[in-house]
Amino acid sequence: MTPAPSGHRGLPEAPDPLPIDVVDNHTHLDITREGDEPLDVAEAIARARAVGVTRLVQVGCDLDGIAFTMDAVDRHPELLGGIALHPNEVPRLAASGALEDAYAEVERLAAHERVRVIGETGLDYYRTGPEGVDVQQDGFRWHIDLAKRLGKALQIHDRDAHEDVLRILDEEGAPDRTVLHCFSGDLTMARECVERGYLLSFAGTVTFKNARGLRDALSATPLENLLVETDAPYLTPSPHRGATNASYLVPLTVRAIAGVLNVDVPTVCRAVSENAERVYGSWDRA
Ligand SMILES: [Zn+2]
Repeated sequence: MTPAPSGHRGLPEAPDPLPIDVVDNHTHLDITREGDEPLDVAEAIARARAVGVTRLVQVGCDLDGIAFTMDAVDRHPELLGGIALHPNEVPRLAASGALEDAYAEVERLAAHERVRVIGETGLDYYRTGPEGVDVQQDGFRWHIDLAKRLGKALQIHDRDAHEDVLRILDEEGAPDRTVLHCFSGDLTMARECVERGYLLSFAGTVTFKNARGLRDALSATPLENLLVETDAPYLTPSPHRGATNASYLVPLTVRAIAGVLNVDVPTVCRAVSENAERVYGSWDRA
């Protein structure tokens, strides 16, 4: 295998542009991986636009990330914002006695017109141990309630917690527009989500060689429940796994999705674009 020519700042080469513009459903422009230079937001947007990724959902999930997000959505019309306290952040804030103030801040900022998403919230039983479960679940319930009160969409982070995520959504009553970001469940979980009307957002993980279960889940996902995302700077799609991810690499995941669903690429592009606008509203400024 010939190594891909390293692009600007060592980022992988840009893939061929998509035939129809799409949305990156979930990215973290505020997060820089160790050893990387901080990304220039305007440049990241321009690189994405050049390959047909014209709109992004920027997700800030701690207080610094949220401040970044509020500033970025004001500056860049290509961005809508998602804000929440991440399930791994909630126990930390609770331990330092800062959780209630942080909730108040999220609630205040979430009213902003360009913030269309409460997320990512949910459960993470991988990074947070059993001692954090109760406070995490309370935090998840708080965010579900906030999304409903403000009429915003919900983006869920679910790591090793599929059953509890579905159970708590059932108990609380999910918001009308509920998205499982970086979907990581199996076929059964995908069916459960589709049945409930949730959207499943697939990241670069769906391109990984060992992700057969995830591709089975994808093949059970109707086009109207489908979204695509980077979760950048993480989860870089093949053949660049391990490199730094960014929105301009979404076409690799879109093409992989089309292959699994056995539909053409424009069909996937149209679906993820229309679904995003249905769930989050228009990116056009009022
Ligand atoms: Zn994320």
